[in-house]
Amino acid sequence: MYPAPFEYHRASSAEDAVALLGKYGDEAKLIAGGHSLLPLMKLRFAQPRHLIDVRRIPGLSGIREEKGSLWVGAATPHAVVATSALVQATLPMLAEAAGQIGDPQVRNLGTLGGSLAHADPSADLPAVALALSAELVALGPRGVRTLQADAFFLDLMTTALGQGELLTEVRFPKPEAGSAGAYEKYPHPASRYAVVGVAAQLTLVQGKVTKARVAVTGLGTKAQRAAAVETALVGKAADEATFGAAAQRATEGLKLRSDAQMPEAYRRALAVTVAKRALARAASRAAG
Ligand SMILES: Cc1cc2nc3c(=O)[nH]c(=O)nc-3n(C[C@H](O)[C@H](O)[C@H](O)COP(=O)(O)OP(=O)(O)OC[C@H]3O[C@@H](n4cnc5c(N)ncnc54)[C@H](O)[C@@H]3O)c2cc1C
Repeated sequence: MYPAPFEYHRASSAEDAVALLGKYGDEAKLIAGGHSLLPLMKLRFAQPRHLIDVRRIPGLSGIREEKGSLWVGAATPHAVVATSALVQATLPMLAEAAGQIGDPQVRNLGTLGGSLAHADPSADLPAVALALSAELVALGPRGVRTLQADAFFLDLMTTALGQGELLTEVRFPKPEAGSAGAYEKYPHPASRYAVVGVAAQLTLVQGKVTKARVAVTGLGTKAQRAAAVETALVGKAADEATFGAAAQRATEGLKLRSDAQMPEAYRRALAVTVAKRALARAASRAAG
């Protein structure tokens, strides 16, 4: 099916994109890689009258290191994140998650900001943003504001971004000594979206887990922290027994979806297996 007719605008700057959003209001949608929005438009689930293209805005894509953090522009394609030597060395979890998204076409066009703003319940990067304590920078009619990943994902494809706001960059704090993370997923065989994905960031001191941030995707209506797993890890020896016991709690306290493709019990079982793998790999990286 063809999308409904729309007018195309190429924003020349972040400020221009925000001005266009203000001008066209509810009738406007930002477009970056188009790999989530265009399928919705073709099905006519979305019918924006004005499309504001942000992909070529100078300065909206790229990766830099500054003030103890990695800054990734919102329009940076997944392929660039996945292959960046800086990301691979500093935040391997982010690189490996970006590298597992879809196929090369999706990774070449789809963007970090588009994925986070779209907040698909089976997307990989929202879980990674939660585990890595990412901060999301948005520009809107009232200026710049910074949103913590923990407060960003509200519900199914719903975020804390306001109507007139553009995500400009995402800040990932560099991990402290003894910390590392890993992302594991069980991909859907057709789309590669996460049936279950687990992002785990661990800090180890003398063989014990002192800090843990674990987030899951694919299970419910949004990516969420697996608080019970985190609690089960902190203060314990970083060994297989601890990871096995913690992974058993992967879905504790979380609301799961159940659909024709996959009953809830299957998702729960899968989450335990995927969580155990993510924890073991994160710990092995953190141990150096
Ligand atoms: C076949 C296929 C397989 C896929 N497999 C996976 C997968 O395995 N894992 C996965 O995580 N994803 C997967 N995706 C989704 C892919 O990662 C998308 O690229 C991503 O979800 C959206 O990024 P985009 O740049 O294409 O956004 P777009 O489609 O351009 O936009 C998506 C939404 O975000 C908004 N938006 C875009 N940029 C901004 C911004 N800077 N600020 C505010 N709002 C913005 C748009 O208005 C729109 O509402 C797949 C997609 C396809 C088509």
